[in-house]
Amino acid sequence: MKRHIYADNAATTKLDAEAFAAMKIWLLDEYANASQQYSFARKPRAAIKQAREIIAECINAEPQEIFFTSGGTESDNWAIKSAVLANLNERPHIITSAIEHKAILNSCAAMQNLGCTVTKLPVDARGVVSPDDLASSILPQTKIISVMTANNEIGTIQPVKKLCEIAHEHGKIFHTDAVQAVGHIPIDVKNLGVDMLSASAHKFNAPKGVGFLYVRAGVKLFPYLDGGAQEYGMRAGTENVAAIVGMAVALKKNISALETNQKHIIGLEKLFIRELEENNIPHVRNGAEPTLPGLISLSFDGKDGEKILHRMDLMGISISTGSACDGNKNQISHVLKALNLSESLAKGTIRISLGKNNTLEDVRAIVTALKKVLGD
Ligand code: PLP
Repeated sequence: MKRHIYADNAATTKLDAEAFAAMKIWLLDEYANASQQYSFARKPRAAIKQAREIIAECINAEPQEIFFTSGGTESDNWAIKSAVLANLNERPHIITSAIEHKAILNSCAAMQNLGCTVTKLPVDARGVVSPDDLASSILPQTKIISVMTANNEIGTIQPVKKLCEIAHEHGKIFHTDAVQAVGHIPIDVKNLGVDMLSASAHKFNAPKGVGFLYVRAGVKLFPYLDGGAQEYGMRAGTENVAAIVGMAVALKKNISALETNQKHIIGLEKLFIRELEENNIPHVRNGAEPTLPGLISLSFDGKDGEKILHRMDLMGISISTGSACDGNKNQISHVLKALNLSESLAKGTIRISLGKNNTLEDVRAIVTALKKVLGD
């Protein structure tokens, strides 16, 4: 049977076996609703408390600053909409970047429909936001600044700490979408200084459909889901105990092995680039240092990224053209447009995202397949 090679870890990751094992008891045996008063609910309630503490520790936050959500999209929506809803009658202004995930950009667009104004900061050819551009875009009515930690299509890591400092100098709230970063690069919310941060569990070997929003103590938060008293009355709904526990186990495991994983993945990435060069495969690499380990955006001039993806798929290799959440076939991704990439390069772009489960053998097989596909 043909071996399947998964090289799309920025789209999602494989659930960690230990996380899965830790989840089972909360589904099969200890299934009580954690909000109930009887003793059967004590264990799930304690498990949620412990998970919140573990997650907080992983990003140097306090447990009460962690709000569980259904994932990155919800966390992003909450951050943007909370800032607007808390200030609706002031025609709020939002600042974000041109290369955000659609969860941010479409939340901003929805708020624009309610009368807000939005500034999308440009990026340079490497995909980096300029701190000066941010400083000159801040208006008195700016209510939130949201710039992602690491981009999902090209891997570029933004100068979040610096951007955050500028936001604070002007007395503004700073949010970062760290969905691609948490569990993969060190994240310390106190050191970064961010007011809010979004994360999604399925990007770090935890289950899909769960994530969290970090909200610094003292930052005004508008309730997102109205109903019961869960998540301090800010996000109602019976907690998904198993998923929350799985998220905590997987995050702790990834954070404990962060350096080892990074070393392994960077080794794979270096081999990949070396093999591309040794095989004389002409390419342009998008994004710039520092980038997320293992996220490789490559453009092949005059080629068709969609066709490359399908040919690779037939060879048992899963890669992406751009962002999986933005798989709109005939459109050039907004991220590549923001880089000012020529149409011919943008159309010939693929994303390979290597993860901790990939091997040197995978990398060699991907390059061999690419050489064949591009040569045909
Ligand atoms: N933000 C970024 C940067 C992402 O890469 C993604 C998913 O690809 C999301 C947000 C959405 O996260 P989720 O899939 O958990 O809704």
